[in-house]
Amino acid sequence: MSISQLARSIAESPTFALNEEARILRERGEPVVNMGIGEPKNKAPITAILSSAAKLNTGDIKYTPPDGTPSLKKAIIRYTEENYDKIVAPENVIVSYGAKQSLFNILFTIINPQDEVIILAPYWVSYPEIVKMVYGIPVIVTPEDGTFHPRMEDVEQAVSSYTKAIIVNSPNNPSGMVYSQEFISQIVDFCERKKIYLIMDDIYHKLVFDGKQALPAYKFTNKDLESSMIIVVNGVSKLYGMTGFRVGWVIAPRKIVEVMNNVQAQTTSCTSVVLQAAAEGALTGMQSVVESLRLSFENNRNVIMQELRSFSGLRVIKPQGTFYVLPDFRAYSNNSVELSKFILDKARVVTVPGKEFGMEGHLRLSFAGSVKDIMTGIERIKWALDPNSPNEIYIGDRKLIRDWL
Ligand code: PMP
Repeated sequence: MSISQLARSIAESPTFALNEEARILRERGEPVVNMGIGEPKNKAPITAILSSAAKLNTGDIKYTPPDGTPSLKKAIIRYTEENYDKIVAPENVIVSYGAKQSLFNILFTIINPQDEVIILAPYWVSYPEIVKMVYGIPVIVTPEDGTFHPRMEDVEQAVSSYTKAIIVNSPNNPSGMVYSQEFISQIVDFCERKKIYLIMDDIYHKLVFDGKQALPAYKFTNKDLESSMIIVVNGVSKLYGMTGFRVGWVIAPRKIVEVMNNVQAQTTSCTSVVLQAAAEGALTGMQSVVESLRLSFENNRNVIMQELRSFSGLRVIKPQGTFYVLPDFRAYSNNSVELSKFILDKARVVTVPGKEFGMEGHLRLSFAGSVKDIMTGIERIKWALDPNSPNEIYIGDRKLIRDWL
């Protein structure tokens, strides 16, 4: 069978693959703890359910404009005004099937073959693959060992005449790092001067802990939206725990949105009107759901940090946001793929190898699950790896004895 070179070069999504492995194991009755996928466990906000159900009940389920329904766009404009202190026009907004499609559309719209896109490690697994899908070249900037914060001088060094865009994701998946205001202000200034697009993946922007805030990039420019290089991506997946609704959006200069609109019209046509209604319901409903999600993740972060602190040999940087932590497991193995597999085999805990995020030797653990999942998951990983932990454990109703350390 003939498969295109490009399609063949696209890696499988490790998080979805691991999720599937966990599902199969669970179906076989294995007591798997899934610390792999980044997905809040809450039910969708009631206003989202009611709004999409009301739309369904009309039976009038048709195409919408490619860039989204006027009423959802209005809700996004209000959200942007309230949370970004930025007034944008409907022509600056385009709704897509999740932030993932938003990112694809942006890159498809701005990248010529061989253009370079700078990605800051540790990075979300999909960035390099999406860049490759539009015939661009991902250029990875790695932080100093022992930190997850990029340095501006490294970014500047990685820029060439082919650099078209830089993707910034803060709060960051997979590290939970919130980049400093100084860094954001420097990178905004740099991109505006060099005419490089700055794609801000703000999907976790409200999930920040310890009373901190992730300030919008707009705060650091005095250019108006039409002449600015800033493009913002957001969505309902993490904000409201609505991953399955697949609604994301982009705020960008009109010229970009106009072309993205054509791209979308020729591909998905539009995002489903039922799902757009759900997103609108969430955005216009009680916003206390966001704060209660944030609080539960902050609590989970505290629990996982406490559990990880008593784990010999591990180096952990405390996440300041998101629902991920990226401990350094090099005291146990330099090969995160093998280590993750070992942990799944022995302890039935799903983790994601740091290699997938450009951070070999680390494992990403999601703390989006319950406190019980976190405690059980870490206890099992400790049992599998840490000789200082008790060598007997119950996994489900099986008592297991560690005989490999
Ligand atoms: N960006 C980042 C950094 C993410 O972690 C995710 C989801 N894992 C997305 C984008 C995509 O979100 P969506 O569900 O809206 O496609």
